[in-house]
Parts: sequence; C-alpha cells; structure tokens
Amino acid sequence: MTPVLVLTGGTTDRAAHYRSDTAWIAARLADGESGVLPVWRDLSLVDEDGGASPSVLRGAAATQLLAAAEDSAFLGLDDRGRALFAASLPLATGEALCRAWAPAAAFKDLAKLAPVLDAAGGALLAYARALLRWHRHHRFCGCCGAPTESSNGGHLRLCTNAACGERQFPRTDPVVIMLVTRVDACLLARQPAWIAGLYSTLAGFVEPGESLEEAVIREVREETGLSAVAVTYIASQPWPFPQSLMLGFRVEVRGGERLAFDTAEIEDARWFTRDDFAALRQSGIRLPYRGTIARSMIDAWLAESAALSSRRPEPAIGR
Ligand SMILES: [Zn+2]
Repeated sequence: MTPVLVLTGGTTDRAAHYRSDTAWIAARLADGESGVLPVWRDLSLVDEDGGASPSVLRGAAATQLLAAAEDSAFLGLDDRGRALFAASLPLATGEALCRAWAPAAAFKDLAKLAPVLDAAGGALLAYARALLRWHRHHRFCGCCGAPTESSNGGHLRLCTNAACGERQFPRTDPVVIMLVTRVDACLLARQPAWIAGLYSTLAGFVEPGESLEEAVIREVREETGLSAVAVTYIASQPWPFPQSLMLGFRVEVRGGERLAFDTAEIEDARWFTRDDFAALRQSGIRLPYRGTIARSMIDAWLAESAALSSRRPEPAIGR
C-alpha cells in the first residue's frame, strides 16, 4: 500500500530497554541472525527487486560490515524479533564492501527513493540514515573539544574527558511547514534553488525559545507579509535531509492583505484557486511529490475546496 506520508509508518520495535544492556547488544552483534543496514556517504543500500526495499545483510556479511563500520547503532527488532543495526561504512571502501556481499543492491539517495518505498522500508531507512549522520557530526564534545564515544546502543555520545562528562543525544530539528489559505485559494511559493516550475508550501526552522504556533506566525509574516488569524496543526513527517522533523500546519490569513514576499528567500509566491490547479500542467508548474507533507496538505485542501464548491457558487478571485 502506498503510504499517505512517505518515511512514516515504521514497524520496527525500537526496544529501547535493550540499548543500555551492553551484554545483550554484544551478543546480538555476534549472533549471525541480526540484520545490518549499511549507509555510505549518506546513501542507503536498497535491493532493486522491481521496486525498492532496504537491503538487510546477515551472517558473515553483517559481521564484516560491522567490523569495518565507522559507527553502528542498534535500531530495534524486526517483525521476527531479530535485532537490526545501522552501520556507517568508510568513504573509501564502503561501496566495494557491499558490492562484494550484495551485488544486486545499490546505494541510493533516500530523498529521491522515498516515493517508491513502502511505509515500513522508508521509515527504517530514514531512522538509520538520521542516526548515523548524527554520529558522524558529533565526534567531538561541543563543551571541551575532547573526542566523544558512542554509548547506549548508539543512542548517546559521551565526552571522553572525565572532568567534562557532557552527554549528547541524537538531534532532530523541528521545521514548521504551512499551507496558507484564504476563503477560496491557497498560497504556494518557490525558492530560487528549486527545480524549474516547482511551487510548494512555506516552511522554516523553529527558533530557540519559540512555540510551534509562534514559529508559524513569524514565518508566514516574514516570508509573505501576511497575518495569520488561525493556525491548525495537521500532521508530522520525519525528513532526515539532514535531520528535520516537518510539522505541518494549516494557516488561515486575514483577507485583503497584499502579498509582500521576501525576495531573498522566495522567488515567487502566488494564490492558487481550485481552477488554477486544474490547469497546472499547461502552465508548467509542478507540485511536490505525493507522500510529502506539503503535497498531502495541498491535496486535502483541494478535496475540501471541491466539496465546498459543489454546495455553493465559487466567487471569482484573481492572483
Ligand atoms: Zn567535553
């Protein structure tokens, strides 16, 4: 089944109570039954068997990959109760190692692969990629500069300077992503760096000392000059590119305000009516792919808009 939101719907039992059980973790690393998900240069290893699914290596392959890994982390238990580990492979040798053990598999960019993965596979790869990237970027203590070491099954990094003892936990950065609407139109924008023709919802990082709602209101104001009058939470989606959690909101804005978008961040922003969406293809405009939270919020608004217009005449609105 195609997931509503890609990278969500994981079925791995994270079994967090095992993370601190070093004897149990050591036994699973050596038992030959455990599965290893390799990540190399932020790319995920997948079997391309007609579609795509995570490539999980076991036995001698798993042992060798874990021995060669720069970092590894316990992910949890699969649906048969077998342990799963993520392993970050060396830049120079990682690809050749995997080619030797899994010649039919290939390293792929999860951001591009997400639309063709099933829910459980996408969520598992997102989890592995995010956790290993965090390890790679936290090798030193931010307080004293000493090296850190992995602990708690790969879910904690400890400063090796006993006088410091700083503990670092895996990080996820909250990002608010907003579909701005008025009575009969929704606002989409594009950034200069995006592929030609792509329009999407607004988004921005939550800043320190800010609630999600405050971040939504600030981002809408900064990027478009519009005033939010109602903010409603919709859903969330892990987005490990590199380490975001997208928090989706619907934002109703005050009528009658002019769009004044920030040209440093936004190349163009437009109001789209339901009729505009019907003619998108001819106008060369594309939307984010299905399964992204942005597209899901746009599609939900379109469905609501269609239901509303079947009950009342639609007023004419320009851009
Ligand atoms: Zn330290």
